[in-house]
Amino acid sequence: MNCLECDTELIHGGDHDYEDFGREEPGVVSNLTCPNCSTYVEVYRTFEVEGRRQPHEIREGGLGRFVRLYRAKWDRGQKEHGGCLDKTVTIEKVEEEVMDQWGYLQSLRVLHNDQLKALEDAKNEEIEHWKEKYHDACRN
Ligand SMILES: [Zn+2]
Repeated sequence: MNCLECDTELIHGGDHDYEDFGREEPGVVSNLTCPNCSTYVEVYRTFEVEGRRQPHEIREGGLGRFVRLYRAKWDRGQKEHGGCLDKTVTIEKVEEEVMDQWGYLQSLRVLHNDQLKALEDAKNEEIEHWKEKYHDACRN
């Protein structure tokens, strides 16, 4: 890479992880200097992780979904119950909400495990099917 000012080949000083620059996605910042003039260049290179979300995409996706859902839920709650939460909230109400969340989590756990078991069964069935086909082919 050549200097943008004098076209002399730049000297590569070193690399730093994006993390050192407060960025969450994987990548490297390379610094280069010109031996002929005072030009200093930083090159940002973001690594693409195929098929997986980048950390900042996870953050933005979660944040965006929360804002959308929270606003709509809040407005429905206001229409249904009205009032001012700042005046009516109690520790006991928050405890009840936490217990509800625990119940939801336990039901999701059971559902998730059932789905994993069904997938595992289907996979094993498929393996057995192809083993039989293979053995039939070997016999003929
Ligand atoms: Zn230069």
